[in-house]
Order: sequence, then C-alpha cells, then structure tokens
Amino acid sequence: TRSLGCRRLLGTHLKNLLHTKHCVLFDCDGVIWNGDKAVAGAPEVVSLLKKRGKSVFFVTNNCTRSRDSYLSKFSRLGFCDVVQSDVVSSAYCSAIYLRDMAKVQGKVYVIGSDGVYTELYEAGVPVVGREPDVPGATIYDCPLDSDVKAVLVGYDDKLNFLKLAKACCYLRDPNCLFLATDGDPWHPRPRGRVSPGSGSLAAALETAAERKATVIGKPSRFMFQCIVSRFGVDPARTLMVGDRLETDVLFGRSCGVDTVLALTGVSTLQQALGYRDSTDPQGAACVPDYVVDTVADFLPALDE
Ligand code: PLP
Ligand code: CA
Repeated sequence: TRSLGCRRLLGTHLKNLLHTKHCVLFDCDGVIWNGDKAVAGAPEVVSLLKKRGKSVFFVTNNCTRSRDSYLSKFSRLGFCDVVQSDVVSSAYCSAIYLRDMAKVQGKVYVIGSDGVYTELYEAGVPVVGREPDVPGATIYDCPLDSDVKAVLVGYDDKLNFLKLAKACCYLRDPNCLFLATDGDPWHPRPRGRVSPGSGSLAAALETAAERKATVIGKPSRFMFQCIVSRFGVDPARTLMVGDRLETDVLFGRSCGVDTVLALTGVSTLQQALGYRDSTDPQGAACVPDYVVDTVADFLPALDE
C-alpha cells in the first residue's frame, strides 16, 4: 500500500529484523563493492553474518566473470570466507538454465564475455561464437552452424555487427531459443562514465529478430529458484540487499523476499520515494521495504 516501505533500518529495528532472517542475498556492484573497491565494512558484515549462522549468497547480474574468477575477486578485496556455492551469477545461471531447464540439444551461439564461456563449458553446454571472425568476413559469406539451437546474449565489449547479424540469422528459426544473461541497461564506471549493459545489446538483437529474449538475471526469479532448489531457503526468512530498484528490489519482491535498498550504488532515495508515492502499480513493485546508507549500517546490529 502507499506510503509504506522505504523505512530507515537502524539500531534495534535492524537487529530484530536480522534475528528473523536466516538468509541474506547481496547484490555485488553498488552494494558490497564499487568496481574494484570494496564498500567499507562490507567484508566484516559478510563474515559476521556467516559467524551468526546465516546463509549468504551473492546474486550478481555481472556475467563477465566465472564463479572461480569471482572467488579471486572476493579474496583480493578482503572477503575471506566466501565459497563458490555462495556465488550466483547470471553467467552460471544461464548455463544451468540451458542445461537443466531448456535441455538444449545442440550448440549455443554466444554473444558474451569470458564468464559466460567458462560457465557454459563447465556445465558441459557446447558453444559457438568465440572463434575470431575471418577478417573481411560478412554476413553474405560467413559460415553458420546448423547445430545451433539457442542464442545467449550478454555483456560483450567486443560486440560487432557481424556477431549481431549471425545471432539474428540463427533466431530466424522459431525453435531456436533466445536468452539474455540479464537486462541491465547501463552501468556506472569510474569518473562519472557509464557503459551499456547486456540489456542494451539484447535490445538491439530483439529489434533485429523481432522476438523477445528470456531474461535469466535479476529481476527474473530464476536466480532465486537456483538457490532454492539447491539450498531450500525460505523466502519469508530471506533478505535481499541491492542498489538498483528496477532489478534488485523488483527481484526480491517478485520472490517474496524483504528488500533493502543500499544507497551506495545506482538508485537514489528520491527514486525510491518516487515509486512509493506514485500511483503506477508497476512502480509499487520497485519500492524497497527498507533503506540503509550502506551495508556497513549492519555492523552495530551484528555485535554479540
Ligand atoms: N553487468 C556488468 C557487465 C557489470 O559491469 C555490472 C556492474 O559492474 C553488472 C552487470 C551489475 O552487477 P550487479 O548485479 O552485481 O550489480
Ligand atoms: Ca548492483
């Protein structure tokens, strides 16, 4: 209902809330780190939650790294007790979806980064798309693989016209599955710059193919289903902490999970209040239950 949500989470209120939760889902960029820098206090918050017996998962739309590569990043940034099964990325979940849900019988044409290729390889899903294009090749003469049964599009900073054109050709076949790792529109980069996200690339392909991609990452519920099916967590006893209202908060709410907006990333308090005070029912799904300045606000609540 209107005027509920966006409550400041502090002191005993936060302590009591954490008592009722067994599981905390953290978005990564904008919540526990910004680019290559840990958010101050975040490693301690993660350690203390684990010490208090909570399950902690990192639910990220960033498909550029494999889970192993995330583990290196976690330890480099001072998160010392994170294990592989804590990391739930859009690249990993895309691989799980292709293998276990879609059960694709054939190859996947990939527009994406290392993380996607590594996770698909580890899941045993055969791919094409990584081979460098022959110089001067065009869509008139480049080879196409008749075994391709799915197209997966994600963040690719080497994207070019020929890759889009090939993907578009594969998608002419209505039986060819069309997936996007995530629908993120753009990402903040250092010194006030931004770069387009997977969603922008997927949108180009959706226009060309006149089809919509199935989105694996947040706000789709699939990443939560991956966690539930493996670890059986209870949504009512779970908290989702994120920085982007249209992905993280919408994701949490769709999964029946209480949500916290951390103001260290993309979305602002004004935007959250804007959704709360608007009459648009779509906006209501992006209103966080709670707001903190930073995850470091959890620290006092985690004292013995
Ligand atoms: N995808 C890419 C390519 C990114 O660079 C980022 C953030 O840096 C994200 C997705 C968003 O990641 P998260 O869901 O952890 O905020
Ligand atoms: Ca984020």
